[in-house]
Amino acid sequence: MNNSKSAIKVPALSTAYGGRIFGSRYKARWALFMDLIGIEYAYRHDGNYQSFGAWEPDFCVDAGATYLHVSPLPIESERLNQAKFFVEKANAEQGFTQLFLIHGRIGAPRRADDSPYVMRRLCKHDSRSFPKDPPSFALEDIRYAWGECANCFDVSPNFADGDPSCRFCGEDTTCTSEALKEAYRAAQSIKLDSWANLRLTLAVRPTKVELLT
Ligand SMILES: [Zn+2]
Repeated sequence: MNNSKSAIKVPALSTAYGGRIFGSRYKARWALFMDLIGIEYAYRHDGNYQSFGAWEPDFCVDAGATYLHVSPLPIESERLNQAKFFVEKANAEQGFTQLFLIHGRIGAPRRADDSPYVMRRLCKHDSRSFPKDPPSFALEDIRYAWGECANCFDVSPNFADGDPSCRFCGEDTTCTSEALKEAYRAAQSIKLDSWANLRLTLAVRPTKVELLT
């Protein structure tokens, strides 16, 4: 008998969503979030997911240049070494590759530098641009958050502090846009037994989520 609640580890529940089986509800919720903000992704084992090694991050976006791995708790050190190996191999074989590691609660940042989840980047820095940085695959000590461009509505991981600007048009981005807040709210709060009936409306902003009855 184990009466200690803190000792009970919640098992990951495989979750069907969008025609895929995700390894946990947490991963499925981030998939829903990306659907709502219009990010196209490949999940592990999808035909267009390109793998580089035994360990694989959850999601591949930007035609393989960017990967995302999501877990409720911070990645363990052994897993981090596998992640570094993955990025190193991908970088050598296909050019610049970045991996964002995300953990924590899905939710909207109150301010740019204060989000419920933590998003950090693992990549190799260009030694010409960052001459002081070691040319290794280091986990950046910089916080990122999803940001939306106020001009072209592109959404991508962006610096969570400083002065983030859009990768396409250079305009300011915000991590607290109404579309992003709506997507966080839906991804965090939708009951999973409702998902079979979920219809996503992506074309019109702000994003709308409807439950079919
Ligand atoms: Zn833009």
